[in-house]
Amino acid sequence: MTQETKIHNAKILTDTKRDFSIRWECIEQVYDGQLNSCACGCQGDYLYTEHYADIRNVGRKPNVMLHSSNTRIVKILEEMSVAHEVGFQQEDNGWILELQTETTKNGYDDEVELGYRIYFKNRPFEHKKS
Ligand SMILES: [Zn+2]
Repeated sequence: MTQETKIHNAKILTDTKRDFSIRWECIEQVYDGQLNSCACGCQGDYLYTEHYADIRNVGRKPNVMLHSSNTRIVKILEEMSVAHEVGFQQEDNGWILELQTETTKNGYDDEVELGYRIYFKNRPFEHKKS
């Protein structure tokens, strides 16, 4: 083929599927709450992993700090791994995975999607040495 062919308005194939393998050291944070809401965290919890909290200097709060044995994160990762439909999105050097667990109504009769997101990088974090 010698001529250039232009393809316009191409979209990501909706049935594009791929597998992920998530290493604990690569996880930044986990979101647990309403999915179709603003991203500030007012409708859910952002839970930082211990190593990411150190990098972000958000301090150490035992109730939001996830260790690999934390039952909340273990449950979320297990649900993700057996789910039939997990959404994914690429971001800088990493990924966001999203699992919708239920749909409900809030007090204003709006449809509310609840679920989880896992934010992780392709490579483990460098541990801070201080
Ligand atoms: Zn908000």
